[in-house]
Amino acid sequence: MFAFTYHRPSSVRKAAALAASVADGKLLAGGHTLIPTLKQRLAAPGDVIDLGGIPDLAGIELRGRTLSIGAMTRHAEVAASPVVKEAVPALAYLAGLIGDPAVRNRGTIGGSIANNDPSADYPAACLGLGATIITSQRRIEADDFFTGLFETALEPGEIITRIAFPAVKKAAYVKFANPASRYAMVGVFAAKRTADIRVAVTGASQSGVFRWTEAEEALKKRFAGRSLDGLSLPADDMISDLHGSGEYRAHLVGVIAQRAVEAAAG
Ligand SMILES: Cc1cc2nc3c(=O)[nH]c(=O)nc-3n(C[C@H](O)[C@H](O)[C@H](O)COP(=O)(O)OP(=O)(O)OC[C@H]3O[C@@H](n4cnc5c(N)ncnc54)[C@H](O)[C@@H]3O)c2cc1C
Repeated sequence: MFAFTYHRPSSVRKAAALAASVADGKLLAGGHTLIPTLKQRLAAPGDVIDLGGIPDLAGIELRGRTLSIGAMTRHAEVAASPVVKEAVPALAYLAGLIGDPAVRNRGTIGGSIANNDPSADYPAACLGLGATIITSQRRIEADDFFTGLFETALEPGEIITRIAFPAVKKAAYVKFANPASRYAMVGVFAAKRTADIRVAVTGASQSGVFRWTEAEEALKKRFAGRSLDGLSLPADDMISDLHGSGEYRAHLVGVIAQRAVEAAAG
């Protein structure tokens, strides 16, 4: 690792001011992605700003029909939370599928969506539920947040503070996991909230998480797995690697999407 200056601010305001005042700072959440990146010398920030001492970034609460989760909330807390299980059961289920117990006890929801790994689970939930990402500067709709592979709409130094999810019962996440890493080979989050039907896919596309709009259109006629019969995605847009070809992933999206819709329709 390179030498850097470590900071542990006590408020979002102080963290944002620090981030703005240094040339090449990096925010640190659970460190599950950042620390290996530093160790491998893939990044060499001059300053690391640890968000772990900011109480405002913690906590889960239901405000009316909106589930608000602090950015520093660990996956294990989301998985175990009675509030999440009541408001959006599919989200608690998804959090419980992430990695292994060590990963779930360190990794954070804010770090996961800021990183926007193309195989991560939370981006599918954010897009599938139409979440709002709240930052130190503004509110960003999930549809505008995930802009590409490991890319988001965040500006340098902008801090995710909370994620707001609408309370939705008719929703499900189905993941076909890589047995070694537990990351999604394909994961589909399907949700129906009054007239809003969303199908979000992670793990598959070379451009990262995306909404499968053709599937959403088909489901407007009838919210059932069979409505997706015959729909397919072009294989050349899919990730092709040693774990599976583009054709395999394209096929898997269709199968997993049907299962997710069936589970959501209940
Ligand atoms: C072995 C292993 C298996 C895993 N399996 C899965 C899996 O199955 N599914 C899955 O979805 N994920 C998986 N992960 C990812 C893991 O769950 C973490 O969410 C992810 O690594 C991010 O880690 P972190 O929260 O500790 O963030 P960090 O590593 O601390 O930060 C990650 C990035 O986000 C930025 N950042 C962090 N917090 C904020 C914030 N509040 N605002 C703005 N930027 C911020 C940091 O600057 C950094 O660039 C796995 C990780 C490991 C190591």
